[in-house]
Amino acid sequence: MEVHRLRNLLGPDVLRARLEHEGVPRTTLSFYRYVRLLDVGALRHALYREWEALGVLGRTYVAPEGINAQVSVPTANLDAFRTALDARAEFKDMPWKIAVEDDGRSFLKLAITVKRKIVADGLVDDAFDVTNVGEHLDAATFHRKMEEGALVIDMRNNYECLIGHFEGAYLPKADTFRGAIEEVVGMLERRSADPLGRPSAEPEILLYCTGGIRCEKASAWLKHEGFSRVSQLHGGIIDYARQIKAEGLQSKYKGRNFVFDERLAERITDDVVSTCMQCGTPSDRITNCREATCNVLLVQCEACAAKYDHCCSPSCREVHQQPMEVRRAWRKGRSTRSTRTKAINDPAALRARIAKEEERLAAGHELRAWPRAERRRGQARSSWLEARGPNNN
Ligand SMILES: [Zn+2]
Ligand SMILES: [Zn+2]
Repeated sequence: MEVHRLRNLLGPDVLRARLEHEGVPRTTLSFYRYVRLLDVGALRHALYREWEALGVLGRTYVAPEGINAQVSVPTANLDAFRTALDARAEFKDMPWKIAVEDDGRSFLKLAITVKRKIVADGLVDDAFDVTNVGEHLDAATFHRKMEEGALVIDMRNNYECLIGHFEGAYLPKADTFRGAIEEVVGMLERRSADPLGRPSAEPEILLYCTGGIRCEKASAWLKHEGFSRVSQLHGGIIDYARQIKAEGLQSKYKGRNFVFDERLAERITDDVVSTCMQCGTPSDRITNCREATCNVLLVQCEACAAKYDHCCSPSCREVHQQPMEVRRAWRKGRSTRSTRTKAINDPAALRARIAKEEERLAAGHELRAWPRAERRRGQARSSWLEARGPNNN
């Protein structure tokens, strides 16, 4: 009998080609639930078997505290997928959030991972009641409370807020959930501290995040910290976008929504709320540096993408433009897989570095020390400066 390994064993190029030739319309959706799950290892294998048979791709975490899934399902199998989920009492009637901007290419493979928690939050669970969450608001109610002057807080990381957010929202500078929540508590405490010691009116707090799941923890944490008037956007920005469309409301969220799949972001409105980190012109084109050893997330306009060959800096471009064998030798021993998403959070420092590197290039230097033999071989391919010509920067 053939043993099924219950995991993907194919490389990304094979997977990409397979998805491209599949020609099947897909729907990208996400769902989560905090629910007590027993024997998550066995459950994980059972789900993998069922979902693989339905052609489901995507990333799912199962943990003793629940399930958190972002998947793409062949649209023809949506009903069967719903039936399979509902067959388990723990997962019955989980609300789905369907991506609004979707080319069906959001995920390449199916990965279901057993985790300690479904969101890496860094919080100590025993310390507070995770079920004491804020009130869930639909889009229209969220709008009304915004108009009444409630304090809107983005519960996502710094790089997620960059390219889109609610008007006037507080945007954390931290790059982890735990950092963001600590920052928010600090901000709220400073805000409510009255220099004369008078009791100040507690603000009405509105939280939002990508799909709603982080607000479950964040609202419970804020209530634990003593803030009682806490509400959260039901279903997050993903479902907000759907409600806005369905009800014909004017979006108070401007720009794009950062998502955790191959698309990186989906557009909610045409507003461009960010600027290119390399040249400063308005842009919300978020991308990874193409040099595999860097892979940093940045906002990069089309012109800079062309100028820097989709890299974050001249030094990454220099690596990227070496002949394949030189690149391979150089990358040896360097990590090329980013295990965590890192984003540039100081564009001014990036621009200063770029300027310095451009200066060195203009003076005829190379930015990295290339092995001599390999360089000679590489010279057949003229350097980017010569290839581009002097008037083309
Ligand atoms: Zn630019
Ligand atoms: Zn780079």
